[in-house]
Amino acid sequence: MTEAAPSPSNTDAGSLPCPHWAETTDVAPPLDVCETCIEIGSDWMHLRQCLTCGRTGCCDNSPMRHATAHAKETGHPIIRSAEPGEHWAWCYPDEVAFIPGPDGWERVDEE
Ligand SMILES: [Zn+2]
Ligand SMILES: [Zn+2]
Ligand SMILES: [Zn+2]
Repeated sequence: MTEAAPSPSNTDAGSLPCPHWAETTDVAPPLDVCETCIEIGSDWMHLRQCLTCGRTGCCDNSPMRHATAHAKETGHPIIRSAEPGEHWAWCYPDEVAFIPGPDGWERVDEE
């Protein structure tokens, strides 16, 4: 099987689903735990990953909301779901969701 996937340049902000994608990087796969919860002995519901630094944190249904806390603390704008089988991302400043499309992430604009 040949895969000739064109790699669009990430430097053209006009082609990004929102400008904050310019602040994301190729992060390592997420952890399957919320490290911050483990440190403080808390518990989490679902996991999210910061796409700027790769930090795994817990969702807004978790008591400590570490993913959102991390975004507020650092200004890192975009997270994605770190749950197996879930494919979406979220931009905090724009409050907009993204799903993977044929040409990369696409905005989900709710009607
Ligand atoms: Zn954005
Ligand atoms: Zn947590
Ligand atoms: Zn981060």
